[in-house]
Amino acid sequence: MTLATSGLHHVTAIAGDPQRNADFYLRTLGLRLVKTTVNFDSPDTYHLYYGDEDGRPGTLMTFFPWKGVPGGRRGTGQATTTAFSVPSGSIGWWQQHLRDAGVEASKVVSRDSEEALTFRDPDGLGLSLVAHPQGDPRDPWDNGIVPAEHGIRGLHSVALSVAAEGATVGMLEEMGLHHVGGEGNRLRFAAGAGGPGALVDVLITPDAPRGLVAGGTVHHVAWRAPDERTQQDWRAELVDRGVQVTAILDRQYFRSIYFREPGGTLLEIATDEPGFTVDEPLLELGRALKLPPWLEPDREAIAATLPKLQLPDENNPELVERSSS
Ligand code: ZN
Repeated sequence: MTLATSGLHHVTAIAGDPQRNADFYLRTLGLRLVKTTVNFDSPDTYHLYYGDEDGRPGTLMTFFPWKGVPGGRRGTGQATTTAFSVPSGSIGWWQQHLRDAGVEASKVVSRDSEEALTFRDPDGLGLSLVAHPQGDPRDPWDNGIVPAEHGIRGLHSVALSVAAEGATVGMLEEMGLHHVGGEGNRLRFAAGAGGPGALVDVLITPDAPRGLVAGGTVHHVAWRAPDERTQQDWRAELVDRGVQVTAILDRQYFRSIYFREPGGTLLEIATDEPGFTVDEPLLELGRALKLPPWLEPDREAIAATLPKLQLPDENNPELVERSSS
């Protein structure tokens, strides 16, 4: 058995004020809130999951938002840019949309026949919107805030900043990724069939400071495993190779293992199963505070510590409703 991930599962980052975070990802980027839960390792903090309508693997951006969190430092040993996939021909629309929302974005950059806009979220997290020349067959979340024709299709790629390429590239290759391009100090790798959602750029930045993971930085990057059986095999393989890897953890919506690539970025392998409809129906995803069974007994105390969130009404985005936490 060799590791062969098919692409990105999710990216998890640290944010400040949860309301500001939700407003940006729901209203400005037009993603769907597919789960409102807590950080299972620190249940006094939300864990907010944004994605497409179903919260499919490869569309998910998640946050631990913690008001007043100190800002991190961007640098090596981190995923310094998270890119979302948009249709070719939509970059101009997004440029105007971000401007209208008061978000300062770069000029449009063309690279590897792709067009990209880069900007930061309200906590300073590095983001970009990328239009791939072959398009992206995934359906967007059609929420009325961002027209479906321009909507985000899911994750496009992450950029890992490293001081030296060697060991990180070796680890990516061991996970089944292969070198497909890049130029200068940027090497592009693809998983499986490649394309948006299955790409990672390795940025060799020996002069950058060492990154510090805190507010406005990525906590970890998760890659897909189809099921638990495959994940067990991949875990055994990593252990055989001497990688320090966690036990399989139950994240309720997927099972997870974590390990660090030699350049310093925390990686995860997460299963596609069981997904976000395991504890609430598709139409209601994200509206209520969901807790795993082992935290249910503490629901009252947990809910009391979490700030209330005002969410856009999915049927009428101009209206807001309170999360029923
Ligand atoms: Zn994760």
